[in-house]
Amino acid sequence: MHTMDTTIERAWSVLEAVPDPEIPVVSIRELGILRDVRHGEDGVLEVVITPTYSGCPAMSQIAQNIAQAIEQAGLGAHRVKTVLAPAWTTDWITDEAREKLRRYGIAPPAAACSNAEKPIRFVPYKKEAIPCPRCGSTHTEKLAQFGSTACKALYRCVDCREPFDYFKPY
Ligand SMILES: [Zn+2]
Repeated sequence: MHTMDTTIERAWSVLEAVPDPEIPVVSIRELGILRDVRHGEDGVLEVVITPTYSGCPAMSQIAQNIAQAIEQAGLGAHRVKTVLAPAWTTDWITDEAREKLRRYGIAPPAAACSNAEKPIRFVPYKKEAIPCPRCGSTHTEKLAQFGSTACKALYRCVDCREPFDYFKPY
């Protein structure tokens, strides 16, 4: 067990400010990507991240941004450790980040249900209404399963006629 020391505290504060490369209005902390900052067994500063959607090309960019933030703060050697379990879920996105996404024009993900709660296959899903991030109308339609990135679907608001990205629950 290591107690909180100043290196860890400073690392948290610089890393909390690292923006997501794809959605710069939210930080990697707010998205739930940044999991832990600690000393490894050899004493080296260890930054623990969990990737979002597998294959999201942003992950190497995130590791670079972390390295840059650590170097600029003069925190010395570090390593980025990628932890895959438990798997990242959109449920880890903080409420503040959801609000920032909405203001940015991206509909935040609806709560994802855990595997145990998923309805039995072949039972039709109740069609989920995705509210428009601009006007709040639930009168929206899906245009494409993939929006600006694979993590998002492209929707259009029937009322204000604006297209928007929906951050798919995962
Ligand atoms: Zn609208």
